[in-house]
Amino acid sequence: MKYLSTRGDKTERHFSDILLEGLAPDGGLYLPTSYPRVDAATLARWRGLSYADLAFEILSLYIDDIPAADLKAIAHRTYTEAVFGTPAITPLKPLEPGLALVALSNGPTLAFKDMAMQLLGQLFEYELGRRGETLNILGATSGDTGSAAEYAMRGKAGVQVFMLSPHGRMSPFQQAQMFSLQDANIHNIAVQGVFDDCQDIVKAVSNDLDYKRAHRIGTVNSINWARLLAQVVYYFAAYFQATKTDAEQVSFTVPSGNFGNVCAGHVARMMGLPIAQLVVATNENDVLDEFFRTGVYRPRGAAQTLETSSPSMDISKASNFERFVFDLLDRDATRVRRLFAEELATQGFFEVSAEERARISARYGFVSGRSTHQDRVATIQRCHRSYGQIIDTHTADGLKVALEKREPGIPMLVLETALPAKFAVTIEEALGIVPPRPAALADLEQRPKRVHVMPVSVDLVKQFIADHV
Ligand SMILES: *Cc1c(COP(=O)(O)O)cnc(C)c1O
Repeated sequence: MKYLSTRGDKTERHFSDILLEGLAPDGGLYLPTSYPRVDAATLARWRGLSYADLAFEILSLYIDDIPAADLKAIAHRTYTEAVFGTPAITPLKPLEPGLALVALSNGPTLAFKDMAMQLLGQLFEYELGRRGETLNILGATSGDTGSAAEYAMRGKAGVQVFMLSPHGRMSPFQQAQMFSLQDANIHNIAVQGVFDDCQDIVKAVSNDLDYKRAHRIGTVNSINWARLLAQVVYYFAAYFQATKTDAEQVSFTVPSGNFGNVCAGHVARMMGLPIAQLVVATNENDVLDEFFRTGVYRPRGAAQTLETSSPSMDISKASNFERFVFDLLDRDATRVRRLFAEELATQGFFEVSAEERARISARYGFVSGRSTHQDRVATIQRCHRSYGQIIDTHTADGLKVALEKREPGIPMLVLETALPAKFAVTIEEALGIVPPRPAALADLEQRPKRVHVMPVSVDLVKQFIADHV
């Protein structure tokens, strides 16, 4: 399998070439030149596989430059009961007949990002070792991404992580999760500013191409193709658990921000997995809901991006969305470039044609909805009352929209993107109880912290990295 850019650069790339990269050189995102179709016999065979073996089968279709035995070993090192808490890795949690959660949040940081990041850690260590290279990952986080990256990369040979976060602005749980790591290759930098300051520093460092090359700076952001590919696997795993035969269809509802998670659902559907609907659920930051309802994509400015109680979906633009638009426009890279590089820059939005808009659901199965703080609270209460389950705020956004969009006779699977322990304040508001947390994390906030506090300064961050590589 080879890879191309959504903006037309046709330089042929293999998986290992794009593994350690972010954007394509022309500013586009990488996608495979085609989606491998999975036939009925293959689906039937995959139904019986363990999660790690299923992951290996799916990864093999997209990765032709890692020997099969090595790839299989990587999949088996990643998806273990020891790391994910259950042999099923992503078990279903039934709510009522025809409605279930897909448990994706039993990894080390209690959010679904571990599903992909844990694989990325193994792939990075493997690829860097093979090349005899090292990489210094620089990132900015306001919560889930940074911790998932650190837990995936801790102790990995050849990799260091430099993670910027806004000083004093993450929840005590999130701070403790990151800052309690004592691994020598993990560096937490608490910047005395807001999340945007952190992101601006990362951009400034990455734009200094000489520095970037000299210090081997890389990223693990959500546009990384390997992360998306890892997420394709659980759509298959969930489907096999929810159905008895491959003649049945299911729908998925996905709490969405950067469109990474649900884009993996799109890939699974393009491969032939019998998915009826892909339901995109947003919070008040409803850029995606607006597009799927109206065909207009209008990213917001920082000032119009709201701070909500499902903070991991508080995005101003959906960074993976260009991948879907590329498919929607029949892979017309010239038009994708015009929409994303020109129309967005000059007028701040773009609109697809009426005919293309009709395809969004007719051909691709996408529908959408949005949820507010009040909806989240009501849904958390309803879920607890009706099903005896405590769900987190992001999953609540998903369940709220899933209940509106589900169709008779088609099971609806809601992706659980975090455990409630991570977002305890809203759970207490809704239910008046402190959500349970895994026993191993009982003393998390009491552990010694390893963090460097720094003013908002590109130069100080550059100096810090230089001193540690
Ligand atoms: C990252 C995240 C999301 C949004 O995922 P995308 O792939 O960006 O759409 C939703 N919920 C939680 C808990 C997250 O951490």
